[in-house]
Amino acid sequence: MARWDPWRGCHRYSEGCKFCYIHKGDAKRGVDTNCITKTDKFYAPIERKKNGEYKMKSGLAYVCFSSDFLLEDADPWRSECWDMIRERTDCQFLFLTKRIERFMDCIPSDWGDGWDNVIVGCTVENQRRADERLRVFSQLPIKHKNIICQPMISAIDLENYLDGVELVVAGGESDRYARPMHYDWVLSLREQCIRQNVSFEFRQCGTHFIKDGREYKLQTKDLCSQARKSGINYQRNSEVRIDGNK
Ligand code: SF4
Repeated sequence: MARWDPWRGCHRYSEGCKFCYIHKGDAKRGVDTNCITKTDKFYAPIERKKNGEYKMKSGLAYVCFSSDFLLEDADPWRSECWDMIRERTDCQFLFLTKRIERFMDCIPSDWGDGWDNVIVGCTVENQRRADERLRVFSQLPIKHKNIICQPMISAIDLENYLDGVELVVAGGESDRYARPMHYDWVLSLREQCIRQNVSFEFRQCGTHFIKDGREYKLQTKDLCSQARKSGINYQRNSEVRIDGNK
């Protein structure tokens, strides 16, 4: 899989941004995250080797993981990105956003009912943001939809918004002062997904993780491995429709 960061930097936008890893990393290096700049990898998807092959391999490409693809500051640059995405039909471009309400203003004129090679992850951190963003997300013409509950800072009921969603991800917050994540919230999300035949992934625990009424303080390096150990991921059966018919 590839990573493509056409620009970097972002502005905090909602509660889930409190301990944004980009802001934290930049602060350590004395970089101003609010300064949005194009990177020298802007044209990475269409760069070619001497033999004419694309440098970026086919398959999954993570887009804008140092920013938000729908950030307003990047509006003048995005159409060139769509041109590259249109060209690389051999890649699946995945971006996550907290700004899903901007989606219709950011897509190219030939978007139609979505492109096969674009996966959009709508990020929600609590019930309020889930209700705000997923009401919009559920109406959008997107072929591949994911919901990312990370950092999950409250219980979230997604059940009204799972139609057409392929994957739900749950993850806790990582920071010394992180807000706690309750394992019960994760299990509840998983049950919602199973009922609606949506894949579910428990991607990482939170630094402050509450299970069976006990609080655990976990190290950053263990957050993902501890989540994996729970063994609760669920793979949807793509042959079964939500109404239970094949
Ligand atoms: S939207 Fe994402 S990248 Fe931007 S500040 Fe918030 S968490 Fe960080």
